[in-house]
Amino acid sequence: MSRAAAVLSEAQTADAALRARAALVVPGGMWGHLNAARLPEGYPQFFASAEGCRVRDVDGREYIDFMCSWGPVLLGHRHPEVEAAAQAQAALGDCLNGPGEVMVDLAEDFVAMAPHADWAMFQKNGGDATTACVTIARAGTGRRKVLVARGAYHGALPWCSPSVAGVTSEDRAHLVHFEYNDVASLRAAAAEAGNDLAAILVTGFRHDMGRDLELPTAEFAKSARAACDAAGAALILDEVRTGLRLDLRGSWEALGVRPDLAAWSKAIANGYALAAVTGNDRFRDAATKVFVTGSFWCGAVAMAAARATLRIARETDVPGHIHAMGLRLREGLASLASQHGIAIRQSGPPQMPLMLFDADPEVRKGRAFCSTALRHGAFFHPQHNMFLSAAHQAADIDQALEAAAHGFRAVRELR
Ligand code: PMP
Repeated sequence: MSRAAAVLSEAQTADAALRARAALVVPGGMWGHLNAARLPEGYPQFFASAEGCRVRDVDGREYIDFMCSWGPVLLGHRHPEVEAAAQAQAALGDCLNGPGEVMVDLAEDFVAMAPHADWAMFQKNGGDATTACVTIARAGTGRRKVLVARGAYHGALPWCSPSVAGVTSEDRAHLVHFEYNDVASLRAAAAEAGNDLAAILVTGFRHDMGRDLELPTAEFAKSARAACDAAGAALILDEVRTGLRLDLRGSWEALGVRPDLAAWSKAIANGYALAAVTGNDRFRDAATKVFVTGSFWCGAVAMAAARATLRIARETDVPGHIHAMGLRLREGLASLASQHGIAIRQSGPPQMPLMLFDADPEVRKGRAFCSTALRHGAFFHPQHNMFLSAAHQAADIDQALEAAAHGFRAVRELR
């Protein structure tokens, strides 16, 4: 029997069989955070299909989805109008010798949507966009130092990866750290960078894995803007995770703070691979000078999908709907937790919620909750912020809360 056949014969489920095969031909069986070893017990690693707010794994089990592909799915899986726009473009061609008309249309859409933006350019992944923002800021200022919040995630590139494996100190030589929402530490970091300050890079809110989510204070956002203005540096807003879920204009617009550059990805094409950098006229020349490109960055299908996504998000007030659904979930979880006498903390904007258990340093409660809720048909995450989509309706939330009730019972029994 071959090695693959031997491992397969022991697998109990299609997911286990795929994991066993992957373990032989994919390092570690799966990279990064999607490795089943990092997920709660019983979580599938492999998925077969999805529709609306429901995902199906390779064993045919269906779940109400609160991860939305870790952010990209904003309107629901396989939204018919987005799919129609993508298919119409696919019938004409996707990967051509250069961009199609759709790229200019989409850049115009971004400029119309985001008040800070005078221009837009497109990439594929969030890390492409954050890296391009940093490069443009350095090119525009002729400086090197970039301030980043300690623990913030901006992508898996050597300059910002959460792992140090394969990373040199030179890759990170010009990063200076501050604490999110801590104005004094931000000012101290800006002072340390001195007249070499190129940019402050900051996420729409603090969403570090495993800790309570934190919205930015107005004072913090304004101080970041002021520090950039005083130094002639760029304020870069990393909207990769927050984009289109909080405020279509930009996550800090309600605080009265506009970035010079913003990085977008995830939700902008409802699951199609696309990222964007938007910027103001101060950085137009720099964005013209830097050399950034990728073989697939002109892909017209994702751009057509993005145009449809942006239009629907605008016409149907998606942030408003997912805020309401997120609140329903939050209130339901709070009431179930108190019925079961379990202390939880819920944080973040309702559209991107996180629920942590008190006194749960090893996430035993969080994992037990999620594993049990999963068996009853709801796909939650114990440590990463979750995501609502426009496909979630009140009945879906209520059904997920029934699954959550089983989860809380399992936590009570842990003691
Ligand atoms: N910035 C933020 C805030 C993110 O959440 C992510 C992805 N989780 C990235 C950047 C990197 O995006 P990608 O994985 O598409 O490169």
